[in-house]
Amino acid sequence: MTDPIDALLTVHGLRRTSAARMVLGWLLAHPEISYTHAQLQAALQGDSTLALDRVTLYRLIDRLTQVGLLLCRVDANRVRRYQAMPASLQSIPHFECQSCHRDRPLSGELQGNAGDLEKAAQAALQALRTLGYQGVSMDLSLRGVCADCATSGHP
Ligand SMILES: [Zn+2]
Repeated sequence: MTDPIDALLTVHGLRRTSAARMVLGWLLAHPEISYTHAQLQAALQGDSTLALDRVTLYRLIDRLTQVGLLLCRVDANRVRRYQAMPASLQSIPHFECQSCHRDRPLSGELQGNAGDLEKAAQAALQALRTLGYQGVSMDLSLRGVCADCATSGHP
C-alpha cells in the first residue's frame, strides 16, 4: 500500500523528499491548528532529528500552498498561518480562535440559518463565475477567542 502522504505529494507533482513528507505529515496530523512559519519550524524540530533549514521550509510551504494542499490565511496580526487544507473548511462557515488558533465548523451554532448562508454564498459564487471569474472559492470565518481560552484567562 502506498503511503497516503507520498500519494498526495505525487498526485500534486511534488518530490517525495523526507522534508516534504515531514511537513505535510505534521500538518495533516494536526488539521485543526494553523501555524506560522516559525511555529511550524519549532514544532518540527521538537519532533524530528531531521534538520530543516528555514529556506527549505519556506519553499516547501509555498509549494504545498500553491498546489492546494495547505490553506494560507493572514491572521488579525497580519501574520501568515498555514494549515492542512480541510475539505470541510472550504465552504462551511467556521470559527477561528485568535488565541489557540483552532478552527471549528459552525454548523451547529448556525442551525436554521446555515442553509440561508450557504444559499447566499453559492449565489455569490455562481454570479462571479457567470461574470467570468475563475478559481473562486469561499472562506467564511468568524474570529474571536474561544470559550476554552476565555475561561483559562489567557487573552
Ligand atoms: Zn481558543
